[in-house]
Amino acid sequence: MPAYDAIIIGTGQSGPALARRLVAAGRKVAIIERKLFGGTCVNTGCTPTKTLIASAYVAHLARRAGDYGIRIEGAVNVDMKAVKARKDAVAGVFRNGVEHSLKALQGCTVYEGHGHFVAEKKVVVNNSELSADQIFINVGARAAIPPIPGLDQVPYLTNSSMMDIDFRPSHLLILGGSYVGLEFAQAYRRFGSEVTVIEHGPRLISREDEDVSQAVAGFLKEEGIDVRVNSAIVGVETQGKVIAAKVESTGRVSQITGSHLLVATGRRPNTDDLGLDKAGIGTDARGYIQVDDQLRTNIPGVWAMGDCNGRGAFTHTSWNDFEIVAANLLDNDHRRVSDRITAYALYTDPPLGRAGMTEAEVRKTGKAALITTMAMTDVMRAYERGETKGFMKILVDRDSKQILGASFLGLEGDEVIHCVLDIMYAKAPYTVIQRAMHIHPTVSEFIPTIMDSLKPLQ
Ligand SMILES: Cc1cc2nc3c(=O)[nH]c(=O)nc-3n(C[C@H](O)[C@H](O)[C@H](O)COP(=O)(O)OP(=O)(O)OC[C@H]3O[C@@H](n4cnc5c(N)ncnc54)[C@H](O)[C@@H]3O)c2cc1C
Repeated sequence: MPAYDAIIIGTGQSGPALARRLVAAGRKVAIIERKLFGGTCVNTGCTPTKTLIASAYVAHLARRAGDYGIRIEGAVNVDMKAVKARKDAVAGVFRNGVEHSLKALQGCTVYEGHGHFVAEKKVVVNNSELSADQIFINVGARAAIPPIPGLDQVPYLTNSSMMDIDFRPSHLLILGGSYVGLEFAQAYRRFGSEVTVIEHGPRLISREDEDVSQAVAGFLKEEGIDVRVNSAIVGVETQGKVIAAKVESTGRVSQITGSHLLVATGRRPNTDDLGLDKAGIGTDARGYIQVDDQLRTNIPGVWAMGDCNGRGAFTHTSWNDFEIVAANLLDNDHRRVSDRITAYALYTDPPLGRAGMTEAEVRKTGKAALITTMAMTDVMRAYERGETKGFMKILVDRDSKQILGASFLGLEGDEVIHCVLDIMYAKAPYTVIQRAMHIHPTVSEFIPTIMDSLKPLQ
């Protein structure tokens, strides 16, 4: 039975980085991957979707070329085979990079197969039983498939199988109006598909403030996406060459047909086939591995990092998990999950950059707060670029003057949000940003000046 100092299950965003740190500290490490090196982000998540979105943006801009005084003779055609080839090439660079660097890492043995616990500190992969005093679980998550009657009888797509598409679906039905669904919706609409988004709740991206949801729904509709909210799918079937979804809305059932169906209704952790019961590792009711503030499970010497611990659902949260585990184990630096500030982006065009609390969350705290907003139509840089959709919103604690949260829906919102995020980490008052001189012309140049318009949150 090969004995290691550490076993890492999964090569997502935290596992490979931790392997490098452990090996550098002189530990003998085994890392196990059952499918694609680099996991979701690299192969079926962030990288390929943002690469597709980049192609879709070019198609969109080419159609708008006349707005900029540029004449394109003839129609703008999307070559989906070339779009997919570009996406595969970009994802391939990262996947191969992870695979080759791990296989070349002295002191690290790579196992390719499904790893699962057979006892507290024992993991089996490809009939080999490995043991280690320290085990790190980085197995990620996959698309959750809701129990809709008939769904198992139709050839539905998920974020993973969408990666194999090298053609343009004539009409893409998307089940779920949240982050994953909306990014695919806008990209495929720009590739030329008819797109219908079916959302059971009363609005899109329901975790965001209502004004954000409304603005996003507004620009998606402007591009010709059919957005159906308050619409629950109650059944699905194939009818000849089309897929028919039965949708219940305000008590009435109607039918929407499309050529393809993408299910984007959330994620579930890859913990059901991990033998966690054999090791006594505790999960919550949804299968997320329960961890403490330093990502330790209930079994001493076993940690869970990334999406499978339910403490984050992003590449950067998984990477931050690696940093927390490595800092505590190797650097005597007691970093904690509770030190981090919520931050993420939605990569529609324009994107949404988010930090800290939403306005609704601030209201719930009952704190005395200040709010300021600015429409992107007031941002010169947005005018110059011809991209003036959206708005920026910042919330501040009236007494401490610290920033509580921000939503930047607009040009470069995913980048500009970091102006606010770093001040939040510094626990500095907003007045620090107010006195900073920013570069003109940028979107960020307005962050200091919009602080002048802070008003009490009513
Ligand atoms: C469509 C989409 C778009 C996204 N876009 C973004 C974005 O723009 N920004 C962002 O921050 N996040 C984004 N995310 C989320 C992001 O991809 C994940 O949060 C991130 O990849 C989490 O990584 P992880 O470390 O938890 O594990 P994962 O990347 O999921 O990797 C887990 C790995 O473990 C392997 N594995 C699982 N079980 C076993 C086992 N038993 N034995 C061996 N190997 C196993 C898997 O094969 C996989 O390679 C997106 C997700 C999706 C689905």
